[in-house]
Amino acid sequence: MTIFQKIIDGDIPADKVYEDDEILAFRDIQPQAPVHVLVIPKKPIVSVADASGEDEALLGKILLVAGKIARQEGIADQGYRLVTNIGSYGGQSVDHLHVHVLGGRKMTWPPG
Ligand code: AMP
Repeated sequence: MTIFQKIIDGDIPADKVYEDDEILAFRDIQPQAPVHVLVIPKKPIVSVADASGEDEALLGKILLVAGKIARQEGIADQGYRLVTNIGSYGGQSVDHLHVHVLGGRKMTWPPG
């Protein structure tokens, strides 16, 4: 079981910023920017690469929720970054799909 599943189940705490029946969002425990929120589906999908056609609406909703959180956190006007890491080379460390919402500072490119 992943640490994110434990957060969904309420077994470990998280600083939640959004929740509905399908999606949960909470602050990253090691923030890489002034605003760093993780948006996750409650359904245990490992990554975008493991999602299927039946997850189409859910994936879209995750992005819409990410945008809503960016507005809620006051980072939308200046711009922000959404990231989803996939697998080892992608830098994924938790095997439960998540979209990072990063903002509040200027982002650099390319990522390291
Ligand atoms: P990734 O490396 O893309 O898989 O991102 C996983 C993220 O989860 C990292 O940025 C971690 O800091 C974050 N993280 C790990 N454990 C927790 C936790 N208990 N609460 C909040 N964020 C966490």
